[in-house]
Order: sequence, then C-alpha cells, then structure tokens
Amino acid sequence: MTGDKWVYRFGGGSADGNTGMKNLLGGKGANLAEMARLGLPVPPGFTLTTAVCTAYYDRGETYPDGLEKEVNEALAAVEKETGKVFGDNDNPLLVSVRSGARASMPGMMDTVLNLGLSDVTVEGLAKKAGERFAYDSYRRFIQMYCNVVLGMKHDIFEHILDDYKERFEYNLDTELSADDWKEIISQYKAAIRKQLGKPFPDDPHEQLWGAVGAVFGSWMNDRAKLYRKLNDIPAEWGTAVNVQSMVFGNMGETSATGVAFTRDPSTGEKVFYGEFLINAQGEDVVAGIRTPAPISRSRADAISSDEAPLEEAMPKVYNELVEVANTLESHYRDMQDIEFTVEDNKLYMLQTRSGKRTAAAALKIAVDMAQEGLINEEEAVLRLMPGQLDQLLHPTISADAKRDVIVKGLPASPGAAVGKVVFSSDEAAERAEKGEDVILMRVETSPEDIHGMHAARAIVTSRGGMTSHAAVVARGMGRPCVCGAGGLHIDAEKGVFRSGGREFKKGDIVTIDGAEGEVLSGEVDMVNPDLSGDFGKLMEWADRARTLKVRTNAETPHDVETAISFGAEGVGLCRTEHMFFESERIPVVRSMILANDKKGREAALSKLLPMQRGDFAEIFRLMGERPCTIRLLDPPLHEFLPHSEDEMAEVAKSAGVDIEVLKRQANELHENNPMLGHRGCRLGITYPEIYEMQARAIFEAAVQIAKDTGYSPIPEVMIPLVGTRKELDILKEKVDATAQAVFKETGTELEYLVGTMIELPRAALQAGQIAETADFFSFGTNDLTQTTLGISRDDAARFLKDYEDQGIYEKDPFVTLDQDGVGELVRIAAERGRKTKTGIKLGICGEHGGDPASVAFCHRLGLNYVSCSPYRVPIARLAAAHAALQKADA
Ligand code: ADP
Ligand code: MG
Ligand code: MG
Repeated sequence: MTGDKWVYRFGGGSADGNTGMKNLLGGKGANLAEMARLGLPVPPGFTLTTAVCTAYYDRGETYPDGLEKEVNEALAAVEKETGKVFGDNDNPLLVSVRSGARASMPGMMDTVLNLGLSDVTVEGLAKKAGERFAYDSYRRFIQMYCNVVLGMKHDIFEHILDDYKERFEYNLDTELSADDWKEIISQYKAAIRKQLGKPFPDDPHEQLWGAVGAVFGSWMNDRAKLYRKLNDIPAEWGTAVNVQSMVFGNMGETSATGVAFTRDPSTGEKVFYGEFLINAQGEDVVAGIRTPAPISRSRADAISSDEAPLEEAMPKVYNELVEVANTLESHYRDMQDIEFTVEDNKLYMLQTRSGKRTAAAALKIAVDMAQEGLINEEEAVLRLMPGQLDQLLHPTISADAKRDVIVKGLPASPGAAVGKVVFSSDEAAERAEKGEDVILMRVETSPEDIHGMHAARAIVTSRGGMTSHAAVVARGMGRPCVCGAGGLHIDAEKGVFRSGGREFKKGDIVTIDGAEGEVLSGEVDMVNPDLSGDFGKLMEWADRARTLKVRTNAETPHDVETAISFGAEGVGLCRTEHMFFESERIPVVRSMILANDKKGREAALSKLLPMQRGDFAEIFRLMGERPCTIRLLDPPLHEFLPHSEDEMAEVAKSAGVDIEVLKRQANELHENNPMLGHRGCRLGITYPEIYEMQARAIFEAAVQIAKDTGYSPIPEVMIPLVGTRKELDILKEKVDATAQAVFKETGTELEYLVGTMIELPRAALQAGQIAETADFFSFGTNDLTQTTLGISRDDAARFLKDYEDQGIYEKDPFVTLDQDGVGELVRIAAERGRKTKTGIKLGICGEHGGDPASVAFCHRLGLNYVSCSPYRVPIARLAAAHAALQKADA
C-alpha cells in the first residue's frame, strides 16, 4: 500500500482532513480537522489514520513503510505552529495521544497527556511555566503512561503518594511542592524499574511510539471487543490515533477543563449544559473524582456543587464558549458534545461530536430542530433510532404513586425500573442471565462495568456528575440512571448500603426514577407514556415516509387496544390457541382433545364456539375496518393436555368419561418431536371439525359486528404450517363452505381472504403453486428459521451463544432474520407467489417483524406489511420509515 497517506494534519486554521472523513480519521480526528477548518481554537496536531491500524494488524503488528517519516514531518509542522520543539530541553513540545475510532468507543485506550516529558525536558517546562506545575504534570504523565501504555496498576503509585503524604503530614495534593513531587517521581521511577526490569522511557520519541502502539493494541482488547459486539461495530474498521499539542487546564486558577452539550442530553431541552473544573486536567471531569461545577447559571440547581458556574467564574471564556457551541451546532446541524480546556483564560477546543442522548432527548431535539428549520422532517425521522424508541414506550412512575425515597442524586438518564440491588457488574450479569431484574449500584463506574451496566435494568452511583462514565453510558444504553447520590454509602463487602440512617441489603427491591434522580424503596406504581406531542408528530412524519404497513400480533383485547394506540394498522397474527388457555375454557378444550370420537369432539366444540365468537367479535369491534388475520389452531395438541391428577379428574368429570380412559388417550397423544408433529394444518386435516368451528366463529363474529356497527370487518383466515398446495386446497374449501353457510344463515355477506403461513422451506419453494389457492402469504419467520436452520428455538440457547461468539451467526437468528438463508427463502417465495398471483398480499408475522434490520429487509423485498407485538409497533413504523428514506438516499 505505498503511495498512501498515513498521517493527516490539523490546526492553525486549516487541516488535511474534514468531518466527512470519519472512516479514515476516526470521529475525533475528523472533527478536530473540521473544527480547525472552521477557524476554532484547536491545538495543532495530526492523526494516524485507521488504515494504519488495519495495515498494522495485516502486517503482523508492524507499521507500514513511510509512516515514521510522515509522523516526523507532521511533528515538525506542529513544532513550527506552536513554536515549541518535541524533546527540546528549553522549550519542549508536549502532546497528548488520543485514540479515536469511527464511532466513539469506550473500552479503547485512555488518553495519555503531557507526553514528551523527561528528567531533562521537565526542567525546560519548569523554567517557562513554573516548577511546581511542571513536576505535577510530569508525575501525572508517568502515572498515566505506566498505567495505560505499560500496563502497571494505579495503586503502586497511589501507595507511594499516600505514604509520602502521611510521612510529611500533607492532606491535599495541592499542598505538595515541586521538591516533594521530585522526590515522589524518583520513587515512582524506582518502582517502575523494579516491576518492569527496565527504566521509564525518557526518550520522547520512544514514549510517542509506545503510546501509538498501545492505542492500536487496545483495539483488540476484551473491553473493546465486547463493546464492538454489543454495538455491531466490525473489527475491520480499526481505530485512528490523534497526537495533539498539549494545552494546560492545570496551570492555576485561570485555567480549567470541561465538557458541555449544546442541548440537554437527558431531556433534549434547548439549554447550554455542561460541567467544568478549575485547575484540572483531562479526564478529571468525567472520572467523577472531584464533583465538577455547572457551566451555565441557569443549570446550577441541577448540579450539586458549591462552586460558581463558569458563567460567573470566567465570563469572557463563557461567552466565547457559547459562541463556539452555537457555531458547532449550526454547522453540524445536530446537538454537539464538546470538550474544552482553558489555559490561562484562553479557550481551546479539544473535541466535538454528535452527543449521545436519551430517546426522549433524541425525540425532542429532532422535532425542535425540524421546527427551527435546522433540519427537515425526513432528517428528523432519521435522527431517532428505532431501537431507542423502546425507552419511550415503557411505563414511568405514576404521579400519585407513594414514594419512599431512599436517596436522591442527579437525574442522569430518565426512565423507571424496578429490580434487586447488586453491587458488582459480574453479579449483575450473572443474575440477569438467570432472568432476574437487577439494579447495579456502585460508587462509580468505569469501562470494566460495561457488561454489568448492560445487564442491569438501571444504574445508581454515589459519586460523579451528569457527564460521569455511568451517566454517559447509561444514556447511550437507554438505562435509567441516578448519579452522584452522595447520601448513599455502599459497603459491598458486607453486602449492604445505607442512606439517611436506614440500611438495605443486597437483593432488596428498589425502584429507580431516572427522571427525578431518586432511588425509591420497594416496587412503585408505573404509568403508561404519553404518545401525543413530539412523539405523535415524529411518528406522523415517519408514517408519511414509509411504504410498509405495520400490523400487530395480538389476541387479547388489552393487547389489541395497546397496539392500536401505538398505531397498528391491522392484526397480522391472532393466535387463536392463546384464547384456549383461560381457566374456564381449558377444561372444555381438554375434553375436546381427549374425546375419542367425532361426536365427543363436536360436543366440546359447540361449547367453545360461542366463546371464540365472542373473542373475535371483540377484536373486530376494536379493529374497525382494519384487516385482521386470524390463524386457525396451530400448536401440537399435547400442549393443552392436563398434567396433574387433579386436572385429569376435572376433565374426566366435565366430559363424563372414565379417568383411566382419559389417561390412555393422553398417552396416545404423546409425540417425540411435537414441533414437527401433529400440529398446524395437520390438525385441520385430521380433525376438520376444529377448523370448521373456528371458521364459523370468525364469520359469525364478523357478521355480528357488521350488523351492530355498520362497518365491515375484513377477516383474513390463515392456515398454519402448510407445506403443500393440496393441504391448503382441502382446508380452504372447508373455510369457504363455512363462510357461505354463515352468510346464508345470517343474510349478510362479507369480504374475506383465505391465506397461508409460509413457514416451511417446502412451502417457500412451492409458493408458486400455493399462490394459486392462497389469497395471501404471511411469513412465519419463527418456524421458518427453525425449519431452515434445523435449530429448535427452545433448545438453541445452549449453543447459540458460542455460535455468536465464534461469528458463525453474527446475531441470534431468532431475533434478527438470517437474511442469507431464511431471507433467501422469503425472497424466493415472494417472487414465485407474485408470479402466480400479481399483487398477492405478503406480510411477515414472526418476532422479526419488530426488529429494525429485518423490517428494512422486508421493505427491500417490497412486502405489504410487517406484524409485531404491540410494544414494537412504533419501532417497526420508524424502522420502515428509515428503510424507505435510506433507500431514497442511496
Ligand atoms: P476520550 O475519548 O475518552 O474522551 P480524549 O482523547 O478526548 O479521550 O481525552 C480526554 C481528555 O483529555 C480531553 O477531554 C481533554 O480534557 C484532555 N486532553 C486530550 N488532549 C489534550 C490536549 N492536547 N491538551 C489538553 N488536554 C487534552
Ligand atoms: Mg473526549
Ligand atoms: Mg409457526
């Protein structure tokens, strides 16, 4: 790969790169370049591209030819721009080394600051900027470099420092003089030599290449790998490395460092929002070690700090920062998350990126920006990720619930959750695996906690601000989070936490109110979300953009109503068997199944008929003129069998048969492989009276509703598990005959459809033939996945994780459609079906109908609708809009 450019410069009002080059320069590098181009005050530096990372791994962890030369040239340019010289004794240039992938990624190497210091260069820095500052920077650098690049533990250095402070009776770091730091540094160095068997590298070039190598190395560490997996980031992307001249926020009271958001990342409100620390460097703000002060006066109440806001402490810098923020927001046309440092009253910009935000904030910002004219409605729709919507649809704590507040902290990420308290991320992950709802409670979190945070329903910390690790990650993951709850005392070893004189144990149930920043005792009442307002508006824009219809899988009136409120345009799958399980019905169903002749079955069925009719009537009434697909009985009969002796006796009594006869019957129904057994349309073939009863119930209900209300329901009768056209021919004829009989009896005729599920590979391949009989196909992708992959959904958990880990299936194929295999069958069936019957109605009703990637796939195939569970309806609507808009883009 000779001839490539490996290094891109930025600073001094210009740059080689720009924000469009994120793939090559990483997000941080591309935006540093863009900010430099905008003329914003960016300390000059350069970016080693992601292509270097890829080449590095391709070449067995060695650097491509020519890289070193380009780095030296870029370094020389920075020296020229800053008037300082890297490694110079009198006027040393110091740099930071910062990782930066395409997407911001916790788990990557931490930034190394003050690189370039050595026993010699520190003297030069001391002469220029003060001795104490220089040696404080030097010891920070050694600590950071040893930890991040050389893999030494923090506590080695902490012990040395603590011992020293104890010996000389110092309380605060700020009390230590330059001479104290010199002594500590020599102790640090001795410890390093002892542990590593070699001295701390004092050649700045060696330091630089060490740090660069560590960034590339961190791309393959476990934390980064886990994060990539959770967020679908391919390993091939690689990371970039940014080397940037240092500016110092730790030069005294006129210096500071901070982070800010151009709008509130929690609520989306249009307020300038952020936190800062005077006389501090780098990560101090985010690390939650000192509690930072607010930037704006208006937000001072939201942050528990006694310090003055930046607006008052440094009014000139504040005004400049607000101006920069406005420039960035209107330039990027999105809410920005910015990092800045003030060196002796001069503002420097160190980072900007589109800010992570909660779903609520994403929604509000998108709608506001569209109304401000900053973006158009279609862009607004694309700003809200379908997967995020989930957060908005779930309940929050009801206004009049009784609240027993254990402790109050910062409202770091909204939403409510209930669960058992745990104190470690490993335990959170273990318990969640077992299906428990847990709340992760920590003093603070770090990138090592990602798995626990992901597993937890909500996160609570006793330390750290609104931009602490816990807050940022929780918002990104959509977990409710309460941060900096100072009143909380966690004793993880004893397994208890205390607050306000009360003690709680690990495993106790608490409710988290992320919007209020409260931890409440016990399980508290919740209410449903408000679906009007901004949500309604954005969904209206989404509906305008999409072509795919969205239906719901629902059978109970409650679910149907929920789905309608979420915008369902029909029922795509009503599973009639779910109606069989209710306690008054199940004995009747059981006597139907266990009847040993047709007469016995018919007697039971005649009791079930009015019940089913009532169910369907209710659904038709709720759905109005929206189409309803009702699937005839599908599961293997044994699923309904009585298990206990008591249940047996009850069935025997209600059916008036001997219990021993009944037991024998039950035994005979046993199947070795029920999912491939006597189920689906096979039931209709052997027990036609069951399907006849169901069809009758459907048509009688439809006619009744048509009479009652004046509008016509549109029943779509669906036959499950069809493999051959003949099955459908036989059963459709029966359904048609039943329909005609009902229409004749009632004197009312209605439109209806008879169709089939496509959930067996044979059906997909034979779709051309089946379409001659079927009015519609509904892809039952759950069974189609099982039967195509030959993997039982119920048994897959045991090995699927290994399959995902080893990349055999990238994702659980029961969650995201396996587009290459199962998707291919769907494509074939759609094509063949349409060839026979142009305009045949096509839909999908597996779980995949609510998965954004699968919805996009359905859009591309031109299906008519997807159908999913009620809570996923808005997700599918938005995903369908995204698919349509992205297609239009391409
Ligand atoms: P992250 O990706 O974790 O945000 P960054 O590379 O942004 O890491 O570095 C973290 C912090 O370190 C920055 O927010 C900034 O405060 C500080 N920092 C990085 N580079 C410099 C620099 N050249 N001068 C001063 N501070 C810096
Ligand atoms: Mg940063
Ligand atoms: Mg099925």
